Amino acid sequence: MLEINNINAFYGRIQILWDVSLKVNEGEIVALIGANGAGKSTLINTVTGLLRSTSGSMTFMGKRIDRLAPHVISELGMSHIPEGRKLFTEMSVRENLELGAYPKSAWKTKKETQEHVYEIFPRLKEREKQLARTLSGGEQQMLAMGRGLMSKPKLCIIDEPSNGLAPLVVLEVFKIIQSLRDQGITILLIEQNVRHTLEISDRAYVLENGRIVMEGDCATCLASEHIKKAYLGL
Ligand code: ATP
Repeated sequence: MLEINNINAFYGRIQILWDVSLKVNEGEIVALIGANGAGKSTLINTVTGLLRSTSGSMTFMGKRIDRLAPHVISELGMSHIPEGRKLFTEMSVRENLELGAYPKSAWKTKKETQEHVYEIFPRLKEREKQLARTLSGGEQQMLAMGRGLMSKPKLCIIDEPSNGLAPLVVLEVFKIIQSLRDQGITILLIEQNVRHTLEISDRAYVLENGRIVMEGDCATCLASEHIKKAYLGL
């Protein structure tokens, strides 16, 4: 579904991504893990078209996307649920959701999609008239995910959904991510909560200093001495 081949990316003259390659197959949850500053968000910004790669190639749904604008990539079926939620805090839950249906292909069916989102996140329906800033952290993450689903994506890129949430809420968020995959949505999950992420994902990539240093199925990653020492504190 998504194939990234040897991309390099810079902020100004500083190179952040070095020959990064990564694949996401339909129906998978693929984890991208790495410490603060490893380049995870930069990689996602490059995939979604916010930052141009200087070399390498990327295809999504069989189409080259590395020179396409973000809104065009989104129309192809890619949804980005950003780190830090990035909600429209002075707008209601319902208005935030509606804005997620902005791609042309999703706008016509936004009412039905919204009902589906409310089935996944019943608390959002209860709070649909509330301003986004009045929600709890967990509810805000659910709203960010619901808004991301409003474009009816084939691939959801979810950036650090567990950030700042209480442990029980984190478990709930991870369960929802699994249920999205069960509903046929492919997921690229960026996380620092390495254990939970590896437990629910199919395959993983480890990014360090802008380079992929390890990739494989999650059971192998969980058993790796490097992962245990560097990310699980064992
Ligand atoms: P985190 O988990 O903290 O978000 P990350 O793995 O997502 O980390 P990035 O945000 O991609 O890491 O940052 C990678 C490197 O790029 C860091 O050294 C960071 O300081 C730098 N960087 C990030 N954004 C910019 C920017 N807009 N301009 C210049 N440098 C940046």
